[in-house]
Amino acid sequence: MRVAEISVGAIRHNVARVRELTGGAVIVVVKADGYGHGAAIAAEAALAGGAAMVATADLEEALTLREHGIDAPILCWLHGARVDFADAVAARIEIGVSHLQQLEAVAEAARALGSVATVQFKVDTGLSRNGAAPEEWEALFARAAELVAAGLVRVTGIFSHLANAGDANDRLQAERFDAAVAGLRAVGIEPDMIHLAASAATLRSPHLHYNTVRVGVAAFGLSPFADQTSAQLGLIPAMTLRAEIVALRGVPAGTGVSYGFNHVCETATTLALVPIGYADGMPRALNGAGAWVTVAGEHRPIVGRIGMDQFIVDVGPLAGRLELGDEVVLFGDPEQGHPPVEIWAGLMRTINYEIVVGIGPRVRRIPVDGPAS
Ligand SMILES: *Cc1c(COP(=O)(O)O)cnc(C)c1O
Repeated sequence: MRVAEISVGAIRHNVARVRELTGGAVIVVVKADGYGHGAAIAAEAALAGGAAMVATADLEEALTLREHGIDAPILCWLHGARVDFADAVAARIEIGVSHLQQLEAVAEAARALGSVATVQFKVDTGLSRNGAAPEEWEALFARAAELVAAGLVRVTGIFSHLANAGDANDRLQAERFDAAVAGLRAVGIEPDMIHLAASAATLRSPHLHYNTVRVGVAAFGLSPFADQTSAQLGLIPAMTLRAEIVALRGVPAGTGVSYGFNHVCETATTLALVPIGYADGMPRALNGAGAWVTVAGEHRPIVGRIGMDQFIVDVGPLAGRLELGDEVVLFGDPEQGHPPVEIWAGLMRTINYEIVVGIGPRVRRIPVDGPAS
């Protein structure tokens, strides 16, 4: 009764669009269960669209992709303080390394398995999160050269992440990144993949593309910008959040709706009950904010407080045309007439990323082949 339809065709299209824009390799980030779309569905679609690699934050997420049969290169970069990299090395996961201690742990795992670990260096160029700080680069790269010579480690890439703090800062981060790449080359290591741009810089800053880009939200067809829509960027939103009408009730004028009666029907109308609530990631603060859904191709308002499991739509003039089981679309592709997810994000003073990634586990992810409909 509640589904997030995931358009595999839309993800393929979006990845192909990014490839066309950059001409280089594309890494698609499917962390946090593929931004809520389902990590395995997203990874398969991204690879079908021409992604060279998929990436996650956590090692666990990377291993789960392997369990789902994703055989392509996978990168992950956010590690616990006492992580054991044995499973990563055994599963051929490329390990994003941020400091010397991690590099030693990776080499230790390779030695124990009698295998070679594959790493990409994550360097901090100004975001101040993980990634090796500039003063650590020299020692880190020198040790890497020793481990490469010892046959324990293979280095396939180097990357950093932008703060999206304006063009001047982007250029400064790129300069520092260039210095890190030069430092790696100085110890005799030539990385295959050099990547700085996530979705925002991929879509707007061609001078930051290097030979690889690393996109998340754009692959899912969402815009990282407040002032440009998906369609304006040539992207198709991949998630359509749908539910069925599970009750229809005609009510007289003056009827209070949901907890606290903060909505009272001005006229006689018909209310439709939709089984999605805040447990499923529908923000409770949408209450009274003017959000709408599509029902039978029409825009109809959400009324009354959002419950944990359900909310109410005033379907007024559509009443005679509706029956139980009819579909309600909460958000999807605005080109298909559905509310864009950005309406919720705007009402919630947050970003589209937070809405899609917050859609809960009770909502079934159903892959469909075509573009979102
Ligand atoms: C999440 C993440 C990305 C993807 O960012 P988007 O803005 O969704 O493209 C890229 N790189 C790193 C390091 C990330 O953490």
